[in-house]
Amino acid sequence: MGKQEDFVLRALEERDVRFVRLWFTDVLGYLKSVSVAPAELEGAFDEGIGFDGSAIEGFTRVTEADMLAHPDPTTFQLLPWRGEGPSTARMFCDIGMPDGSPSYADPRFVLKRTLQQAADKGFTFYTHPEIEFYLFSGRPGLGEEPVPVDRSGYFDHTAQSRGADFRREAISMLESMGISVEFSHHEGGPGQQEIDLRYADALSTADNIMTFRTVVREVALSQGIWASFMPKPFTTHPGSGMHTHVSLFEGDTNAFFEAGAEYQLSRTARHFIAGLLKHASEITVLTNQWVNSYKRLIGGSEAPSYISWGHNNRSAMVRVPMYKPNKAQSTRIELRSIDAACNPYLAFAVILAAGMKGIEEEYELPREAEDNVWSLNDRERKALGLEQLPKNLHDAIKIAEDSELLAETLGEHVYEFFLRNKRAEWEEYRGQVSAFERDRMLPVI
Ligand code: GLN
Ligand code: MG
Ligand code: MG
Ligand code: MG
Repeated sequence: MGKQEDFVLRALEERDVRFVRLWFTDVLGYLKSVSVAPAELEGAFDEGIGFDGSAIEGFTRVTEADMLAHPDPTTFQLLPWRGEGPSTARMFCDIGMPDGSPSYADPRFVLKRTLQQAADKGFTFYTHPEIEFYLFSGRPGLGEEPVPVDRSGYFDHTAQSRGADFRREAISMLESMGISVEFSHHEGGPGQQEIDLRYADALSTADNIMTFRTVVREVALSQGIWASFMPKPFTTHPGSGMHTHVSLFEGDTNAFFEAGAEYQLSRTARHFIAGLLKHASEITVLTNQWVNSYKRLIGGSEAPSYISWGHNNRSAMVRVPMYKPNKAQSTRIELRSIDAACNPYLAFAVILAAGMKGIEEEYELPREAEDNVWSLNDRERKALGLEQLPKNLHDAIKIAEDSELLAETLGEHVYEFFLRNKRAEWEEYRGQVSAFERDRMLPVI
């Protein structure tokens, strides 16, 4: 038993932990949890905890159902909303097969494998997400328009604000779980909030995003309100994205930084952006995985719809943030298409794979978009070579079906399962008759 495991076993006693939740994530990004008694943990560290993988979305076929959850002791944390003495703790797990090999269906493993490939080339991948979500005054009923908790807008500061109270409690809870928050503010839509996590290695960030979604929902419930990461809950208000700032480090050196270069961007950074642009359409099905995701990427409201990059250009898909001279550590790029309802493990894996491909193949970075790309007409966009992101889930699936990059990065099992599941989602959606159609047609035709 290693040092970390010993630490956890000691903490169980010292903190009077009665329940340990073992967390993992299914292929679609839903959190799964199995609770074990503290006495089981030593065995769990040695051999893992067995469970029926065939009951988890995307995990196994029924004939190879036995799987093992191996808790990662470095992720041990108490769950503040469950109270103390007795307390409840959680650890994220790696999923294994009975023969000891890692499960090819475990999204955390897919990300780890991709991170390892980058590590073999000397790179560590860092991410920093800006997570947006809406707060509603209660759980929305079926078929009902949700009611936002306030009418405020971007950066608004109002007295006795529901949003500010909410953010304060959510942030202290996150901090008590070791998740550092950098910024938070009211976002553009009524009831819409944003909380930004401090940058960390991509595996920690993905774990943190899973924790974040849980904490935000728990705090909302405790305050009698409802939180949602749905990418576009309203036709007329902005959607909720998860702009993600990314960088590669070689040891302590930021590989994206080059003093004196344009925007301080190294060749590595330029190739990485070029990779993101070239493979943007392929990876969109993972960064924006729901039918609803595409209603956000429609142009305007600061969500991108064209494959472009620019410095300080908020209509671009990849933005190079304003830089502080010689602030090497903070040189990074921001991907603005991704939304908060993605599976963060799989999304980060394909983002990294696209960028690494750009580096390996030395893709040339196209010209930056200097204009607001939404204000250009089709002809102007064509002249600039600006292509559109997939317009809906169907188009995204079609493009993904031909993507070698996705098949390689996700592995055959996750790739096939994911696309099968998404095709089913699209087919179900396609046949839905909406209020939009009824309102428009019934009165006149
Ligand atoms: N909500 C916008 C989006 O969907 C982003 C707004 C912002 O952060 N400036 O991406
Ligand atoms: Mg922001
Ligand atoms: Mg924002
Ligand atoms: Mg941003």
